[in-house]
Amino acid sequence: MVANKQIHTLVITGGHGFEQEPFWQMFNGFENFSYDTVAFPDAFKYLNVEAAKKYDALVFYDMWQEITADQQTAYLELLNQGKPIVYLHHALISFQDWDEFDRIVGGVWEEGQGTVKHNVQYTIQIADPDHPATKGMQDFEIEDETYGNFSANPDVHALLKADHPESAPVIGWTHRYANSQIVYIQLGHDRLAYGNPGYRKLVDQGIRWVVAAEN
Ligand SMILES: [Zn+2]
Repeated sequence: MVANKQIHTLVITGGHGFEQEPFWQMFNGFENFSYDTVAFPDAFKYLNVEAAKKYDALVFYDMWQEITADQQTAYLELLNQGKPIVYLHHALISFQDWDEFDRIVGGVWEEGQGTVKHNVQYTIQIADPDHPATKGMQDFEIEDETYGNFSANPDVHALLKADHPESAPVIGWTHRYANSQIVYIQLGHDRLAYGNPGYRKLVDQGIRWVVAAEN
């Protein structure tokens, strides 16, 4: 992969609040990186083959729920054509009534079963240190919100693991859906994550990996 390639992304939010300033500061700190932002429901204007063309990757940090049948069709066409995507944190919990979304994101969050806990200090284990998304990384400490009792799909390639009673065991992965390379990173609730060097590196390298894998 070409580490210094200039990439242009669309960062999609909506449906869940977050600390705006430190979140955008994280992206502003990435080298050779530029982005546009849009929130749902306006984001649907970009979730089709034609409108997404100008972006090397889509980065989802939303928790939007409503999606029409036509919007699902356009989203699936985009994935069939091939669009690199990184889903962050609560993006796992988007589109709870759209069954296909579990296969797209690569994991399952069940309403009423998944658990969240704020401000947990724990160790993130790099499950595959040879992977381009996690290369050069070692296990690191973070204070962040854990998600418990959700599951990664069996066909994903694990990138991150945790060994903590409040956390699911596999908390970051990559997989392909249709012709699209996908990364999911569970971390990232607030400024404690956005400002963590390990988290920043994961997001930066995760985006670069999905783009590189597509080309
Ligand atoms: Zn959160």
